[in-house]
Amino acid sequence: MAKKQEQIECSFCGKQKEETLLMIGGMGIFICDECTERAHQMVIEEKKINQKSNIGINDLKKFKPIDIKKFLDQYVIGQTDAKKTLAVAVYNHYKRLSQLGKTDDVEIEKSNVIMLGHTGTGKTLLARSVAKYLDLPFAIVDATVFTEAGYVGEDVESILSRLLQTCDFNVEQAERGIVYIDEIDKLGRKSDNPSITRDVSGEGVQQSLLKLLEGSEVLVPPHGGRKHPEQKLIKVSTRNILFICGGSFDGMEKIIEKRMQTSAIGYQKGNSKQEFDKDNVLQYVNQHDLKRYGLIPELIGRLPVVVHLDTLDKTALRSILTEPKNALIKQYTKLFEMENIELVIKDEVLDFVVEKAYEHQLGARGLRSMCEMLMKDLMFDLPGKEVKKYVLDLVYAKEKLDGEMLIKLKAA
Ligand code: ADP
Repeated sequence: MAKKQEQIECSFCGKQKEETLLMIGGMGIFICDECTERAHQMVIEEKKINQKSNIGINDLKKFKPIDIKKFLDQYVIGQTDAKKTLAVAVYNHYKRLSQLGKTDDVEIEKSNVIMLGHTGTGKTLLARSVAKYLDLPFAIVDATVFTEAGYVGEDVESILSRLLQTCDFNVEQAERGIVYIDEIDKLGRKSDNPSITRDVSGEGVQQSLLKLLEGSEVLVPPHGGRKHPEQKLIKVSTRNILFICGGSFDGMEKIIEKRMQTSAIGYQKGNSKQEFDKDNVLQYVNQHDLKRYGLIPELIGRLPVVVHLDTLDKTALRSILTEPKNALIKQYTKLFEMENIELVIKDEVLDFVVEKAYEHQLGARGLRSMCEMLMKDLMFDLPGKEVKKYVLDLVYAKEKLDGEMLIKLKAA
């Protein structure tokens, strides 16, 4: 005899048909809408886990260095050298992961990266953009919050807590991730002479970072901060975690210039002797300079790939305003579009903004603050008004971005 409708219940949670929105039946069992949704979620989670933990030859096809660079080009202006080096580092990281568990004589070593570039030249943006492209857990941490064991501050192991948090504490996934450690230069010893007093913020942390960077089993406090004796710790191996360190290394130019002046006149590149490019001295950085800056040799040894970022010139700043996929001007135009207002910013305004940003050395980061200054009143006044089109001209821009305002920005 066929089951009466009111007797139909979900075979998974036991809910009656009338308590549900939908009951699906098949082969003598039933499933309600809620259980269907739950099951669907579980399938998605499982797919994610499988995708991330089994890196195979298909991933290598997908993540060719040239494709990674093309992707980065959409977000980051210039910095060709840094993009290429990062693309290769990440690609090799994938290659390593695809080799895991295979018995082979040749083991590919991991190549952690160190990036040098002035503030606001795109180091974090590069790291973030790489993360966007990758299907690997990725965390960004600031080196200045860490101190060596026994002092106030966070233990370096909490770097891995952030990584674990990005992948819902799936240790296997975290063990294949990438970590960007910003402000690594702030850990530099302040002088070349090691002091007898303990250097809480710098060298001690560099020492503690060594074991993370070289690859070892680390006990991680799940929620970061300091390790407590009663706390449950998670064991994570850093053998396959790629570390990218970044810093502005203020004053590094002087160290490089000094070395180059004493070593030779001019700079030998290939077979021809070239004048060295005084506007972009960071490109000549080497391991000795890093040591002279205050990084300990052991740490430098664990960061074999050294990348520099170019100083942004006016052309680069101008492109940053309009070209990246989520360029500032595109964002403002979109905001006004949502109010049905067509925003037209004259080219001469953009040139003026760039000129001022360059003159006051505000860099790419300053462009955003300047655009905010420029747009603030318009974003306040125009919504709700009967305006279909607004043309932002130089007279208005000059009024909003007067000298005093810019000086304030520089001081900030
Ligand atoms: P850094 O980490 O080098 O101090 P960021 O990557 O945080 O600098 O850059 C700050 C902001 O400036 C970014 O969010 C981005 O909007 C802009 N920016 C900096 N450099 C570039 C670049 N090369 N291309 C596009 N935008 C850039």
